[in-house]
Amino acid sequence: MARRRRRKWTASPPQISAAQTAEPKPTPNGVGPFQIRLYGNPVLHQKALPIPEITAVERKLAEDMLATMYAANGVGLAAPQVGVLKRLLVIDVNRDDPASSPLVLFNPEIQHLEGEVVEEEGCLSFPDIIADVKRAAKAVVIAQNIDGESIRVEGEALLARVLQHEIDHLNGILFIDHISGLKRQLLQGKLRKLKQKSQQ
Ligand SMILES: [Zn+2]
Repeated sequence: MARRRRRKWTASPPQISAAQTAEPKPTPNGVGPFQIRLYGNPVLHQKALPIPEITAVERKLAEDMLATMYAANGVGLAAPQVGVLKRLLVIDVNRDDPASSPLVLFNPEIQHLEGEVVEEEGCLSFPDIIADVKRAAKAVVIAQNIDGESIRVEGEALLARVLQHEIDHLNGILFIDHISGLKRQLLQGKLRKLKQKSQQ
């Protein structure tokens, strides 16, 4: 997911512990290991497959997805957005906090949703498009971490929103699919341009 508001990047890059890598969070220069697939690319509408075993291949994929997300100044990224149909997502809603660790979730599943809130949302596959989206205010997700251990993540506020947004990606659902009627019509021009751009 894209950040809702751009905040200044803090000076010294922190270390990532949960990702089990000594690499610092890269500065958001827009260039990551992967090219992010934009709206118009059919891969974004496909359902991702479960990951039966977390091997070195999946761990490297997670690491490269994190680097791609940080480079693009995002707070969440799902594997289909880099053209890989696997159920894997990475999230860091506190990316400016040196003490924070990103979440790397394999085979995530929503266990519980609660409440309702409407807030602005963006997506790295939809540059420059922001829209109000209704989501649950609280989300409980079960998944596996990078070591294959079962974990439970409880999210509120931005984390709840990002969890729902990224899990949608694994099911081929995009944030604009939650927008209907007039609001969707107002976005049509921008969406058409983006679609043309991604097919060039
Ligand atoms: Zn997205």
